[in-house]
Amino acid sequence: MTRTLALRCRCGEVTGQVEGVSPATANRVICYCDDCRAFLRLVERADLLDPHGGVDLVQVRGTSVRFARGADGALCVRLSPRGMYRRYAACCGTPLGNTVSLGLPFAGLSRASLDVDPADELRAFGPAIGCNARFALGGAPEGAHPRASLALIARSVRRLARWKLASLGEESAYFDGAGAPRVAPRVLARDERAALRALDMLAP
Ligand SMILES: [Zn+2]
Ligand SMILES: [Zn+2]
Repeated sequence: MTRTLALRCRCGEVTGQVEGVSPATANRVICYCDDCRAFLRLVERADLLDPHGGVDLVQVRGTSVRFARGADGALCVRLSPRGMYRRYAACCGTPLGNTVSLGLPFAGLSRASLDVDPADELRAFGPAIGCNARFALGGAPEGAHPRASLALIARSVRRLARWKLASLGEESAYFDGAGAPRVAPRVLARDERAALRALDMLAP
């Protein structure tokens, strides 16, 4: 069974929805990489980090995301010139989707932005898979893979193939038809990114 989930930034300024979500179509990932963490610090949402510095993401088909309100107030950043496009709400910093390109139609949404009761999340997304644990703070959390397990890679490749098919001819809220990002990104300077990553040293 797939569901349509409401999407909402913390303060409620930005709203939208994600269609067709189920454990078979979405990937719930806890990413411990330093870039995901640096991004949350940049947008002043370190409250979304888990005790090991992990970021709770639900990866979905990019074209299944629709913004209803407040999307024109969104900002976008790339941590490096070739980094992911990381969109977020200008009002409260809530992440609104990590994306790569029009041709790679996925969006990594913040779990916190999706309206699903915690008691129901296993049925909505399937189990969370930990990855990039070699960057985790205070040692690797149990069960998380140092990089990405083969199972996660295989799963992601399968999802991507399906997402690509399902996206044909569909509008993306993230990229226009020519593949340009709808919200122009700011690219961080190298030392700006380094400064954000250096905060890992200060973390307990
Ligand atoms: Zn907001
Ligand atoms: Zn990451």
